[in-house]
Amino acid sequence: MPVNTRDPYDPTNIFARILRGEIPCREIYQDAHALAFHDINPQAPVHALVIPRGAYVSLADFTVHASDAEIAGLWRAVGITADLLALTDPGYRILSNIGGHGHQEVPHLHVHLFGGRQLGAMLP
Ligand code: C5P
Repeated sequence: MPVNTRDPYDPTNIFARILRGEIPCREIYQDAHALAFHDINPQAPVHALVIPRGAYVSLADFTVHASDAEIAGLWRAVGITADLLALTDPGYRILSNIGGHGHQEVPHLHVHLFGGRQLGAMLP
């Protein structure tokens, strides 16, 4: 298990505000551990985001400090969201931007789902 201190979490980040219901989103799915919604600035015909309910910034923070149920819940929600959006059969892409080099803009862990067209070899 990697050693990792907690990433400082900014509770005013936009996804924290969406989770608190302070800002609307186009919801696709939610359960005890995760929320899925359509990206406000889609980069593909289907572009969704899945976020854990917990206050985690990076994947390292999440994998070290989240419970097994939270970790399983996030990935289950990704799969359910792909099914709900009918992405599973034609296929799709998941991506997570982490930190500065990853160009993470919102400091709350999130998984992008891209689909609805033939994607390029690497980037959507
Ligand atoms: O770069 P990063 O992976 O942090 O991307 C954040 C995503 O959050 C962007 O695709 C942006 O369009 C999306 N977003 C959103 N709703 C907001 C603010 C940002 O879907 N209210």
